Amino acid sequence: MPILVMKFGGTSVATPDRIRRAAKRVGVEVAKGYDVIVIVSAMAGETNKLVGYVGETSPLYDAREYDAVVSSGENVTAGLMALTLQEMDVPARSWQGWQVPVKTTSAHSAARIEDIPPDNILRKFGEGMRVAVVAGFQGVSPEGRITTLGRGGSDTTAVAFAAAFDAERCDIYTDVDGVYTTDPRVSQKARKLDRIAFEEMLELASLGAKVLQTRSVELAMRYNVKLRVLSSFEEQSDEAGTLVCDEEEIMENRPVNGIAFSREEAKMTLVSVADRPGIAAAIFGPLSEAQVNVDMIIQNISEEGRTAMTFSCPVDQVRRAEKALQDAKERGEINFQELIADTDVAKVSAVGIGMRSQSGVAAKMFKTLSGEGINIKVIATSEIKISVLIDRKYMELAVQALHDAFELEKA
Ligand code: ADP
Ligand code: ASP
Ligand code: MG
Repeated sequence: MPILVMKFGGTSVATPDRIRRAAKRVGVEVAKGYDVIVIVSAMAGETNKLVGYVGETSPLYDAREYDAVVSSGENVTAGLMALTLQEMDVPARSWQGWQVPVKTTSAHSAARIEDIPPDNILRKFGEGMRVAVVAGFQGVSPEGRITTLGRGGSDTTAVAFAAAFDAERCDIYTDVDGVYTTDPRVSQKARKLDRIAFEEMLELASLGAKVLQTRSVELAMRYNVKLRVLSSFEEQSDEAGTLVCDEEEIMENRPVNGIAFSREEAKMTLVSVADRPGIAAAIFGPLSEAQVNVDMIIQNISEEGRTAMTFSCPVDQVRRAEKALQDAKERGEINFQELIADTDVAKVSAVGIGMRSQSGVAAKMFKTLSGEGINIKVIATSEIKISVLIDRKYMELAVQALHDAFELEKA
């Protein structure tokens, strides 16, 4: 029988009643003849609660125990979903990551899936089971410890299962009815896209659009998984939601197709560092060793052999970055006068494949922001995106102004 993967996010399984509604949707696909792999997230708010408990218990926690704790939310929903399906006379059972097994690397809290042997689940399908309910977000390391895949990781679990089982489609059920031109919670003018290219979705996700985890889009692109995002709250047709697909399957070719943003950014500046060969390596080497994800970088012009180096990183990594740089200073590897951390910044990005062939996008973006009196602190560009770092208090305004300027509300 053909296999379908259906993933339900936190809000879609937030209560036993919502789980029942999700299970009914699964029942419809089973009735059509599909064997279904259901991937579930933890109930809404549950993972945040567990992360909070870990931080409260141990500020510099052992990542293996962090994973043991935060992976547990998904176990509850997997069991409840299986029970709900059984109540509906649909043959189902739950699977935790290690039972499948979902084999991952040992990078705790940010593990990558390496292999999902399909045999165990396929055998059960062969014996008459119709739905395998799998706890998302978790796996097992080569050492036999529980791992998690990073926040939002159930999306990646879903796509990885779709690839491993050669599923006909991977449907991501969430609390919005598709991928929009920007987060519909920030702009009321956001427009739902019927289709979006893998590459654009990849940029939007990595620049902050939480609707899909970045890694899930990467996997879907690599294994050519038919990936769809749709609402678990509305009646659905086969055409509903947004299809993430190859660029060739899309007719539209605008310079900008979406605006993404990330609130959780910080800007750090090393004041007065010696401008000499190897200085960048001496600064960013220790940061990388401390697993700080540096994003944008600017080096000022130097005056009398001294310069300033500015970079951005996720706001929750500021402490780690400070420590790495102070330690490097103490070891005599770098020498700076001051380290300034600005934790009140946000990143706003315009994304579009059409940018490759159209000029003037950056100019229009900068003009729009200046028209709103918003100061740009750092700029970064790539072939299909332009990102700026601005004061966080202007983030919503910037998103709305850019959405208007690029006329994204118009189909
Ligand atoms: P789930 O719990 O189902 O995984 P998430 O909260 O992770 O749901 O992702 C869905 C949310 O992503 C939406 O509620 C929406 O606020 C946010 N979002 C951000 N950018 C976009 C976008 N471009 N299109 C749709 N939703 C977006
Ligand atoms: N429950 C996890 C999280 O909140 C994984 C997910 O929902 O995708 O990050
Ligand atoms: Mg999510």
